[in-house]
Amino acid sequence: MEKLIYTFHEGRSENKDLLGGKGANLAEMTHLGLPVPQGFTITTECCMNYLADAAFFDEQLKAEVLKAIQSLESETGKSFISDENILLVSVRSGAAFSMPGMMDTILNLGLNDLRVQAFAKLTNVNFAFDCYRRLLQMFGDVVYGIHKEQFNVLLHQTESRLNKKAADFNEAEHVDVIELYKNLFLKNKVAFPQDPMEQLFEATKAVFKSWNNQRAKVYRDLHHIPHHLGTAVNVQSMVFGNSGEESGTGVVFTRNPSIGDNKLFGEFLINAQGEDVVAGIRTPEPIESLQTILPEAYNDFIKYSNKLEQHYKDMQDIEFTVENGKLYILQTRNGKRTAKATLKIALDLAAEGLISKKEAIMRVSPEVIDQLIHPVFDTEKLITAEAFAAGLPASPGAATGVIVFTAEKAKEYTALGKKVILVRQETSPEDIEGMVVSEAIVTSRGGMTSHAAVVARGMGTCCVTGCEALSVNETSKTVLCGSHTLTEGDTISVDGSTGSLYLGEIPTIVPENDQSLQQLLTWADECAELKVRANAETLQDLQTAIDFGATGIGLARTEHMFFGEERVLEMRRLILAKDEQEVQFALNKLLGFQQEDFYQMLKTVQDKPMVIRLLDPPMHEFLPHDTNEIKSLAEQLNRHPSGVEKQIEQLQETNPMLGHRGCRLGITEPLIYQMQVKAIFNSAIQLAEEGLTVCPEIMVPLISEKEELDYIKNFLTETIEATFKEHQIEPLPYEIGTMIELPRACIIADQLAENADFFSFGTNDLTQMTFGFSRDDIGKFINVYKEKQIMQQDPFQVLDQSGVGELIKLAVSKARQTKENMMIGICGEVGGNPESIGFFQQIGIDYVSCSPYRIPAARLAVAQAVLG
Ligand code: ADP
Ligand code: MG
Ligand code: MG
Repeated sequence: MEKLIYTFHEGRSENKDLLGGKGANLAEMTHLGLPVPQGFTITTECCMNYLADAAFFDEQLKAEVLKAIQSLESETGKSFISDENILLVSVRSGAAFSMPGMMDTILNLGLNDLRVQAFAKLTNVNFAFDCYRRLLQMFGDVVYGIHKEQFNVLLHQTESRLNKKAADFNEAEHVDVIELYKNLFLKNKVAFPQDPMEQLFEATKAVFKSWNNQRAKVYRDLHHIPHHLGTAVNVQSMVFGNSGEESGTGVVFTRNPSIGDNKLFGEFLINAQGEDVVAGIRTPEPIESLQTILPEAYNDFIKYSNKLEQHYKDMQDIEFTVENGKLYILQTRNGKRTAKATLKIALDLAAEGLISKKEAIMRVSPEVIDQLIHPVFDTEKLITAEAFAAGLPASPGAATGVIVFTAEKAKEYTALGKKVILVRQETSPEDIEGMVVSEAIVTSRGGMTSHAAVVARGMGTCCVTGCEALSVNETSKTVLCGSHTLTEGDTISVDGSTGSLYLGEIPTIVPENDQSLQQLLTWADECAELKVRANAETLQDLQTAIDFGATGIGLARTEHMFFGEERVLEMRRLILAKDEQEVQFALNKLLGFQQEDFYQMLKTVQDKPMVIRLLDPPMHEFLPHDTNEIKSLAEQLNRHPSGVEKQIEQLQETNPMLGHRGCRLGITEPLIYQMQVKAIFNSAIQLAEEGLTVCPEIMVPLISEKEELDYIKNFLTETIEATFKEHQIEPLPYEIGTMIELPRACIIADQLAENADFFSFGTNDLTQMTFGFSRDDIGKFINVYKEKQIMQQDPFQVLDQSGVGELIKLAVSKARQTKENMMIGICGEVGGNPESIGFFQQIGIDYVSCSPYRIPAARLAVAQAVLG
C-alpha cells in the first residue's frame, strides 16, 4: 500500500501533487530549519479515494492517523488524549494549486468539556474558552454546515444579557455559552464529538469533502485547475496567537502584491487567532509596527522572509503567529499579485540576479499582459467626474457598471447583458460566482489582504476595499454615503488603482505602453522565432498595431473601402450596372476612393510588409433589402424600383458563406480585383516617388483549386505590370499569395504553392469549413457541448489541434515540399491565442497575426513557445 501520511520531516516542496502546496511547503520550511509547528499531511490521494468511496476511511486509515498523532505527541512532548500537557491541532486543507479561502480549516481541535478545564488551568480561563468557542464554531460550520454567524449571535446575546464582553466572563458564564453552542448542534440534529480522535476523523473527512463544494469548483473552473487533484489535509500542532498581548497573528507579502515594490506588505493583529486578520473583525496594524511592539519576533520575521524569498526565488505570501513573543511560520506560498506587480517583480528578480531573463519571461503569463494594457479612466473626463467616496486601492483597473448587492443579483444582471459592480460590506467565499462576473468589487470593510482584495487581484478585477464611508444595506438594497443614497441599478465608476468611487459613467482609455512592459517584450523578442503581425485595416488600428510592436500586417481586409454612403452607392451602381459605361464610371469612382485609402494605410505601415486581402464577401451584402431603401437606390441610379428589386432578388443566395464570394467573385468579375490592385500600386508608386518603398502582399481569398489561383494571379500580374509601365517606373517589389481557408486547399497545398508567393491560414473559415460549424451560429450550442464535455473549448477561440491543426500541418509540409522557404502565416482569431501559438511554433509557421490589442500578449507567447 502506498504511504498515506507524511510527517513534515518527510515531505519536500517537490511533493506538491501528493501533499498539496501547503503541506509540501510546511515540509520544505521544516527542512530549511524554520520555526514551523510540527505535524503531518494526509495525502491528496486519500482525498480522492475517500471521495470516490467513503468506505476508504476505514480502520486502517484511522490506525495510520493515530500512529501519526502518537509520534507528534512524542515529538512535542504533549498529549492529544490526556488532560495533561494538552496538545491541540489545526486541521488545514491544502491543494496542489493554492485556492485561498476556498476550502476549510479548523483550529484548536482536541478540546472538549473536560480538557478545556485542564487547558484553562494550564493557561487561563478566558483564553481556553476562547479557543473552545472557536473550535465549536469552526467545527459546526465545516463539518455540519451550521453557519458561523449563528454562533456569533448566541455569543452577542449573552454579552448583552450579561452586559459585558466575553473577555470578562467568569468560568460559569463561559460554560453557559458553550452549552448554548452545543445546543445549536443538537438543534441541527448532530452532537459535537467529545473524543479528540473522533473530532480529528470527522474534520479530516469534512476537509476532503470541501474539495467538492460549489465555491471551490467555481474557483477551479475559473483558474483552469483540474477537478481530479483533491486536497491534502494538514494536521498541525497549534500555537496560540490569542494567548495575550505578546502574541498575535498576521499575513505578510514579501513584496507589494499590488504594485510590486520590494517592500514588506502586510498586517497583523495582537492577541488574535487564525482568520481574525482577514475576516475584517478588528482593524489590523501594518506589519512595520510589529518592530516596536514585538521587536524580537519582527527581526526573526525579516530573517525568515528573506530566506524564503531567496529559497523560492519569488515573492512569498507568509502566514505567521507569535506566541508569547516567539515567532512561528505557519504557511508560505508564492504570493498572488496583480498584473502590474507580476511584471515588476519578474523584472526586479531578474535584475537582482535571483532568476534569469528567460525565467522572467516565463514568469509572466500572456493574460497578465492583457490586463496591463487594460483600460484606465480618461483623465480629462475624470476632472469633471464626481467622486463620492474612497477606499483602499485593492486591485487596479477602471470600470463602470450598475451596482448590485448580492452575488445572485450580479449573475442575474450579467445574464441580461448588464455590467455590474458588486457592492458589499465584505465578501466571503460564497460570493465567488458573483465576483467572477462583476466588472468591479467594492467593500465597505476589510483591508488590502481581505477576501475581496485577494480574489479580485487574482482575477484581474478592479477592486476597492475598506470604503468605510459607505453604509451598505444589503437587505434594503441601498448604500448611503454622506448625502448620497444609491440603490440597486444605479451606475457608478470604480478606480481600483486609486480607490476612488464616482457617480455615473466615465469613459475609459487604454494606458500607454509602459517602460517595464517594453523591457520584458524586448527580451521576449530576442528569444522568439515566430513573428507577430496584426490584423488591422483602419488607420487607427494600424497605428496601434505598429505601436504595440507588430512586425507587419498579416491581414488588412478591404471590405470597409466599399462601405460608407458614397462608396456603397458606387459599389451598388457597379453590381447593378446596365452597360459598360456605368461599370467604368463606378469603377473609376471606387478606384479614386481606394487609392487614397491604400496610400494612407501603406504610409502608416511604412516599409513593413502588409498583406492586403482582395474583396471577400458576397455581392448581396452590399445591396439594400428593405423596400424604402431599394426605392431610394433606384431613384439615385435613375432606374425603376421593380427592376432593381428583381436584380437584388436574383443575387440572393441560399448559403452565402458557401456562395459567390472570395476568389469566385474575382473570377466572375475580374474588374473589381483589377481595380483594387491598381489602387494599391498607384499608391505604392506615389509613395515610392516620395521616397518610401512599401511591401504590399496581395492575398486572394477562398482558393480551393489551383486553376482559380493561376487565373487570378495571371490577370493581377498583368494589371500590376501595366500600372508600372503606365507610370514609367521600374517594377516595385510585391507578392501575390493566397489565403488557405478551405480543407481542399490544405490538401492540395503542394500544387497551390507552385504559383503562390506566400500562404496565410484563415483559421476562422478553415475551422468553420472543417467542422461544418457556422461561426455565427455556434453560440447556440457550444455551451451545451462544453457542459456535456463533448468539446472542451470553442474551436474559434482555441485552435482545434487534432482536426484543423492537422490540416494546417499537412498543408505546411506539402507547401514546403514545393517551396522550401515559402512564407506561411496565420491570420485567424486563434493567431493571438497563447495555447494555439505553441502549436504553430512546432509546425514551422513563420508568423501569427492577431488584433492589435493582442499583440503584446502574443509577443510574449511566441517567446514562451520557444522557451517552454
Ligand atoms: P487558508 O488556506 O484558508 O489560509 P489555513 O489552513 O492557512 O487556511 O488556516 C488559516 C489560518 O489559521 C492560518 O493563517 C493561521 O493563522 C491559523 N492556523 C492554522 N493552523 C494553525 C496552527 N497550527 N497554529 C496556529 N494557527 C493556525
Ligand atoms: Mg492560509
Ligand atoms: Mg475567410
